[in-house]
Amino acid sequence: MMDNRKPNLFDLDLSGLSDLLSLQGEKPYRARQIWAWTFKRFAAAFDEMTDLPASLRQYLANSTNYRRLDLLRVQEGEGRWSKKYLWGTNGLPVCESVLLKYAYGLTACLSTQVGCPVGCAFCASSGLGFQRSLQRGEILEEFIGMCRDQGIRIGRIVFMGTGEPFLNYQEVLGAIDILSNPHGYGLSRRRITVSTVGIPEAIRRFARDSRGARLAVSLHAASDKVRDRIIPYNRRFPIEQVISALKDYALLTRQRVTVEYMLLGGVNDSLAEAERLVSLVSGMDLLVNLIPWNEVPGLLFKRPEPQKVLEFRGRLERNRVKVTVRRSLGGGIDAACGQLGLGEEER
Ligand code: SAH
Repeated sequence: MMDNRKPNLFDLDLSGLSDLLSLQGEKPYRARQIWAWTFKRFAAAFDEMTDLPASLRQYLANSTNYRRLDLLRVQEGEGRWSKKYLWGTNGLPVCESVLLKYAYGLTACLSTQVGCPVGCAFCASSGLGFQRSLQRGEILEEFIGMCRDQGIRIGRIVFMGTGEPFLNYQEVLGAIDILSNPHGYGLSRRRITVSTVGIPEAIRRFARDSRGARLAVSLHAASDKVRDRIIPYNRRFPIEQVISALKDYALLTRQRVTVEYMLLGGVNDSLAEAERLVSLVSGMDLLVNLIPWNEVPGLLFKRPEPQKVLEFRGRLERNRVKVTVRRSLGGGIDAACGQLGLGEEER
């Protein structure tokens, strides 16, 4: 059982860990050693950190929690293109994450909250309700746990699992700090993408804090009438406010934003909506990523006709909007965008 009174190793930054160790009379280099075992060799327990004195390993094992999340279940998708991990504490599910195997390498898709408070009409996470935000250490554990399972480094991270990352801003940014710290996981921030429903003030804040990490925004419609229907947050932060925040973001970071546009059959996949999208984003440096909706049991939406996806894409291309269509790899195990839950589909 996990002891909640002890500090969790994954929640500490390097100076926090050094402070803890200095209370034991240990030198700061020990903290870097422990981080190397944790973030570079994916050790499963203090026992494995063989170049630490046995007494120190014992002390750490007694007075801190190394891991909080256990791997409760792994499922492999069709063709082994994806793998879904269910994490839990004391046997109870906490969150899911997904490993995606693309030709160009591995991508980890991480959850940031337990359930989600945003309530998008088309997303499986909405059915979970909202329990709490994950701590930075838990987010790191999802990721390092996947590296440990694979036995190799994973080269890309997307915060596109369950939850709204910008409603857990501090912890997500804290996790990114450690993931990109050369003493931590040491991943270039360019390879980390945070996806948000579109909270204007958080987008502007991220522009100042991201230091190279990438941004994706779930637009999913080009008119408020349509977006109101599928994303309740749009009533608070309508499209125009989101676009204006993206323009500020671009000015400050000079980076290309990805606009996610999920296509729901008969809802937002018309050519009229494509035209509106063109005028909305014209002149902006961004990439539109079209995502055909993935089915969620119990939801009455339809996938778009393949023909509609082609036409929508063509209309954007003809108007010189950069566009890609996301290939769904999570089929067969409910691991695609918007299908993550808490492992309940088997219970
Ligand atoms: N809360 C963040 C991260 C969510 S998940 C956000 O809103 O961006 C990543 C993407 O998958 C989002 O664009 C989300 O809207 C989309 N999505 C959700 N459910 C989906 C589904 N059933 N099919 C396809 N995409 C979905």
